[in-house]
Amino acid sequence: MTDMITGVIGFPIDHSLSPVMHNAAFAALGLTEWRYEKMLTPPDVLRHSLKELRNHGVVGVNVTIPHKRAVMPFVRADAIARAIGAVNTIDLRDNSATNSDAAGFMGDLQAHGVDPRGMRVAVLGAGGAARAAVYGLVEAGAWVSVVNRTPENAIELIANLGFTDSVTAAGLDAVETADLIVNATSVGMMPRSDESPLPDDAPVRTGVVCYDMVYRPARTRLMAQIEAGGGRAIGGLGMLVRQGAVGFTLWTGQPAPIAVMLDAAKSALGD
Ligand code: NAP
Repeated sequence: MTDMITGVIGFPIDHSLSPVMHNAAFAALGLTEWRYEKMLTPPDVLRHSLKELRNHGVVGVNVTIPHKRAVMPFVRADAIARAIGAVNTIDLRDNSATNSDAAGFMGDLQAHGVDPRGMRVAVLGAGGAARAAVYGLVEAGAWVSVVNRTPENAIELIANLGFTDSVTAAGLDAVETADLIVNATSVGMMPRSDESPLPDDAPVRTGVVCYDMVYRPARTRLMAQIEAGGGRAIGGLGMLVRQGAVGFTLWTGQPAPIAVMLDAAKSALGD
């Protein structure tokens, strides 16, 4: 029986939850020849490592910090990855690559019954995760304001995505009128879990939904603030699982067992 190897390349890679999610999914579907490994990959050997993995018959890899943009010249990035400007999933059998963060985010919104069509959305952040969120939200028919510490980065994000009709760069006042707030900054992430991207007195609409992409901790300070103000808060673990599910299906040709992957990720986080 040939081993079917998949994994994640990054630097560092210790904290990745992807191996527990994927290995639990392989086990649940009886895919005994499949396994998923952490592949520590320093930036200076990125190109060579990809070639070696391909030569050794590795089926596919996820890509994490700091390689998501850097791998672009070495793979056949699809239209979504090119629009977002980053790759997080590669099929090494044909060197095709995509970015599954937008699908993961939109899929998890849908799983929570949130349809952003026609909504006013404030996306906090202008990095890779924000870019994926804005891409998915605009495709789904939302009106998006990008709120970022460095406003130039928000303006650059909008220009790069080319969505100038339905996306604007804005200040924190966009949060006041938003139906949906998305935290795509790293603020609130462990170990600085006492921080929030919003001040305590930030006015939000009654019934606002907040999606916090941060998943460590499971309940962030921002989520507590939103709930205290009568809103609904959703943490980012489901997005992580659903972006991973895209790669799982691409590599194995099988639907991903989402519930199994979510349970495995929660257990690994100690929830
Ligand atoms: P990134 O490209 O480094 O972008 C970080 C963003 O956070 C930038 O907009 C940055 O603003 C902002 N930021 C950082 N520190 C800040 C501070 N102290 N105050 C205000 N803004 C600050 O990172 P990324 O890849 O987009 O990831 C962002 C977050 O999303 C991370 O927490 C990551 O774990 C999470 N994420 C989750 C998933 C998931 O599946 N749930 C997937 C991807 C990412 P400036 O432009 O001003 O620097």
